[in-house]
Amino acid sequence: MRKKEKAAAVLHELSNLYPDAGCSLDFTDPLELLVATQLAAQCTDVRVNIVTKDLFKKYRTAEDYAGADLSELEEDIKSTGFFRNKARNIKECCLKLLKDYGGQVPDNMGDLLSLPGVGRKTANVLLSTIFNKPGVIVDTHCTRLAGRIGLTTSENPGIIEKDLMKILPRKEWANFSHYLVYHGREICQARKPKCEICSILPYCDYGRKKLK
Ligand code: SF4
Repeated sequence: MRKKEKAAAVLHELSNLYPDAGCSLDFTDPLELLVATQLAAQCTDVRVNIVTKDLFKKYRTAEDYAGADLSELEEDIKSTGFFRNKARNIKECCLKLLKDYGGQVPDNMGDLLSLPGVGRKTANVLLSTIFNKPGVIVDTHCTRLAGRIGLTTSENPGIIEKDLMKILPRKEWANFSHYLVYHGREICQARKPKCEICSILPYCDYGRKKLK
C-alpha cells in the first residue's frame, strides 16, 4: 500500500475513533498556550494542567514572566521536570516577546522560532491551535506511531514533519497529530502496543509483522 493511501486509511479510522481529539493543554490565550507547551516537554499534559492552574493566576502577562524572580518561577513549575531550563527559557522568551513583539505571541513560524525554548513542535502547536494555520506536530507519540505504521523511515522530527506533510491533506495536519497522540496513549503505547485490538492493524507495518 502506498504511503498516501495508508495515511488516508489511518486518518479515516482514527478520526472515527477520536472525533474530539485536540490539544489537551488548558489555556485561555496565546501566551498561556506558549508557556504550557514549553512546560509539556518531557512531562504529561495532565501534570502541566495541574501546575498551570495556579501558575496562570500568578503570571498573567509577558511582563509578569519577564520580571519574575527566576528561583521563584523554578519553584512554581518544579513538578513538570527540567524546571531550571524551562524557567530560564520562559523568562527569556517573554523578555524577547516584550523586546520584539510588543508582548504578544507572534503568528508565524519564523518569529516563533526566534523565541528561546521554542522549536517547531511548540510553534506548530501554537500555529494550528491558536492561529488556524495547519502544522504537523511531531512529538514522541507521533514519532513512534508514524514509524511503526510505516509512514516514515526517519526518527528525525524535522524529516517526519515533512514526510507527513507530503502524504496528508493540509487541513488534516494538526488533526492527524492529535489522533496519533490519543492512539499512542490508548493503544499503541511505547512498551506494550495492543496490536491485537488495534483498528489500524491492517495498515500498520509493525503490527502486521508482529502478529504474522
Ligand atoms: S498495530 Fe500495533 S504497532 Fe501498529 S499502530 Fe496499532 S498498536 Fe501500534
